[in-house]
Amino acid sequence: MIPMTTEQLGMNNSIDDKLDILLIGAGFTGLYQLYHFRKQGYRVHLIDAGSDVGGVWHWNCYPGARVDTHFQIYQYSMPELWEKFDWKERFPNWAQVREYFYFVDKELELSKDITFNSRVQSARWDEKNREWTVYCVGHQPIRARFVIANLGFGAKPHLPAIEGIDTFKGAAHHTGLWPQQGLDMEGKRVAVIGTGSSGVQVAQEAALNAKQVTVFQRSPNYALPMHQQQLSPEDNRRLRKDMPKAFEARGKCFGGFDFDFIPKNAVELSKEERDEGYEALWNAGGFLFWLGNYQDTIFSEESNHYAYQFWRDKVHARVKDPAVAEKLAPAKAPYPFATKRPSLEQWYYEIFNQNNVKLVDMNETPILRLTEKGIETAEGEMEFDIIAFATGFDAVTGGITSIDFRSTENKTFKEVWADGIRTQLGIATAGFPNLLFGYGPQSPAGFCNGPSSAEYQGDLLVELMNYLRDNNITRIEAQPEAQEEWRKLIANFWETTLFPRAKSWYAGANIPGKKVESLNFPLGLPTYISKFKESANQGYTDFALSK
Ligand code: NAP
Repeated sequence: MIPMTTEQLGMNNSIDDKLDILLIGAGFTGLYQLYHFRKQGYRVHLIDAGSDVGGVWHWNCYPGARVDTHFQIYQYSMPELWEKFDWKERFPNWAQVREYFYFVDKELELSKDITFNSRVQSARWDEKNREWTVYCVGHQPIRARFVIANLGFGAKPHLPAIEGIDTFKGAAHHTGLWPQQGLDMEGKRVAVIGTGSSGVQVAQEAALNAKQVTVFQRSPNYALPMHQQQLSPEDNRRLRKDMPKAFEARGKCFGGFDFDFIPKNAVELSKEERDEGYEALWNAGGFLFWLGNYQDTIFSEESNHYAYQFWRDKVHARVKDPAVAEKLAPAKAPYPFATKRPSLEQWYYEIFNQNNVKLVDMNETPILRLTEKGIETAEGEMEFDIIAFATGFDAVTGGITSIDFRSTENKTFKEVWADGIRTQLGIATAGFPNLLFGYGPQSPAGFCNGPSSAEYQGDLLVELMNYLRDNNITRIEAQPEAQEEWRKLIANFWETTLFPRAKSWYAGANIPGKKVESLNFPLGLPTYISKFKESANQGYTDFALSK
């Protein structure tokens, strides 16, 4: 049996009888809002299913889990925080990110207003009193005038429908629900199913000391070099000088990073010029080769092809067996470069030169079923001690649709979004008054550095709530016409890119039956901020507001 829920009953904080705002989710987004709404004098409380702060970093503690964003901008920009916390690595592992969350919690005294171990199950709108009643595991119903769901993109792990999935007698875990006490892989036979960011990280880590690692790949990950660096306290002191500039840059860059696409088209450059640019990005490491590449990479097939070929050559140079290299980086790109989220790797490609690592191409050798001892493919049964399901998430919408929120017409989000997501500004859906989302569907979310989104969108939400309070507005609801405009803006832009050619979680294409569409706002953080501000400047009159 693979654990898919981790309900632990209990509560640790009492909650006001009637709140102004109930926040759901204790990740970067929810914690930022808790701090700022409290500072603004709201009666606010936060509720989370996990046993501590961290959101996605609470759940994702699988071996090798590590941030793919450099530490300088993978944290809050409040000086009282970043001036005090020393990082150990340029790309910190999950344990350090947790330490950071505990530090933030202590500095900002957040936990006193958080109830942990309580999963929200349903919520009902009371029109007469203009408030939500929220039902959680192990709790009295909570009443709040506003609810803000900050559920992250990966609140709902996805397990594929593989025959016999519950029959395996060894340890089988989804990466997003890894045992909190850890799982030693030393000397074990480990299967890793999936080669997204999680799969690459687990495989890379397992290959260090497992007896045997078998990587089941359906599509190759176009993984990029991380260029990890260890940081001394002196490095921290030195690098701090650049932090204000880095924080400042985030709101001006597409993905909320401190760098942006090169304002040049690869197709207009000579091969020498182009390759020189690629080489510089490659050597810089991190996401530079993705979100700092030539601006036409995600629009032009030709440009995309150049980037892919450059990446492919780099991979082939590292993998000894040409047949394995070809599977990891095929001559014909299985999907356009940059249209699925690349992982950052450290020694991923070298593991395939090791005797204890095997790559199984699931297109040639599909998994037939799980057995008591392992995995059966067309080539026979392979025995394992541990199976890591790195098979992703019902991303972006999964957290919201898992909660039984009911609209004014008694409909669930699944029903309301059956024909595609409808939101206004990525923060609200018609029929669900006073329910807002942070880092939600049709916001920059999946295309944005998490802490950047938490802060920029968080500030916009605080401003919105202050406006409602200052003007005695007790009800806000998204408007169907505005939703259609937002949807059209997203869909039209999406079609101009190469993203629709990849079957990725960005488009919901990884979940059978899920409507395929852009789950995020793909026009970048700066455009998102300016659209939100347009609404603010006209008193949010594009929403239905009432006193
Ligand atoms: P993912 O990117 O959705 O990857 C899932 C993998 O499982 C893919 O390789 C997919 O193959 C495979 N898969 C799914 N269903 C399958 C099936 N039925 N049979 C065979 N293979 C199947 O999920 P993820 O790796 O957990 O990453 C999700 C996102 O989380 C990332 O894109 C990233 O945004 C975030 N993340 C970040 C970090 C970090 O910052 N360090 C680490 C981990 C995750 P196909 O590609 O063929 O569908």
